[in-house]
Amino acid sequence: MNLSPPPFLIALTVFIFGSVVGSFLNVCIARLPKGESVVSPPSHCPLCNTPIHFYDNVPLLSYVWLRGRCRSCRERISPRYFIVELLMAFFSVLLLGRFGLGFTFFVNFVLVAALIIITFVDLDVRIVPDVISIPGIGLGLLASLIQYQWPMDRLSILPSPVSSLVGILIGGGSLLLVAWAYQFFTGVEGMGGGDIKLLAMIGAFLGWPAVPVALFFASLTGSVVGLIFMFWKGVGSKYALPFAPFLCLGAVVYLFLGDLLAAFYLPLFEMRSY
Ligand SMILES: [Zn+2]
Repeated sequence: MNLSPPPFLIALTVFIFGSVVGSFLNVCIARLPKGESVVSPPSHCPLCNTPIHFYDNVPLLSYVWLRGRCRSCRERISPRYFIVELLMAFFSVLLLGRFGLGFTFFVNFVLVAALIIITFVDLDVRIVPDVISIPGIGLGLLASLIQYQWPMDRLSILPSPVSSLVGILIGGGSLLLVAWAYQFFTGVEGMGGGDIKLLAMIGAFLGWPAVPVALFFASLTGSVVGLIFMFWKGVGSKYALPFAPFLCLGAVVYLFLGDLLAAFYLPLFEMRSY
């Protein structure tokens, strides 16, 4: 007799779990740049500081039934709270579909959570938080080592430790070169160190073939959005787009379509063996 729960129930549970984690990511996004603790004090309205009751702190639903406003001060709460919860829930189900419930799922769940925090912190305050990217580099490498030494997941597509290490080196190295070259030719500091550590983290989690894909998609989407901004705000406007969200997008593209994409530039490689 098959006693495993129906797939729909597993997917729903993973969706709810993702939204709860998304709710915590919101706390990280709001507090990490200020150097505040992410565990205390408990959630409070960012505008009037009134503590939020547990029944007003239900992921996704609270935002809808409070119509995006604080219960006590009635001020509008940023839709970012809803978007982050929805994104984490959505990607959790996508990860479940791609990897099933196993070690690879949890490793990439951590990666997606880190990418979401970095994206929204960078959009908000133009910083890629080191407290996420630097431990992320170590975690990505550690996960590849664990899976390689003590295979935990039959269906794993985690990179080998060598691929992870090479990913860190060329991920960090390539952007470091770009930053040096930019500074050399223009005399202006262009690329932030945060982007360099972020791409190293992406290389650590996904292996070196992810680095060119993430860079390519980041440059492509970044240029398109940059052009749209230029037409909208007027040419010559000094608005520098943050680059990290585009790198995160590139990493997510690789995470879900990597084997298809890498086949274009790694035709001779057996994908499972890099
Ligand atoms: Zn309030």
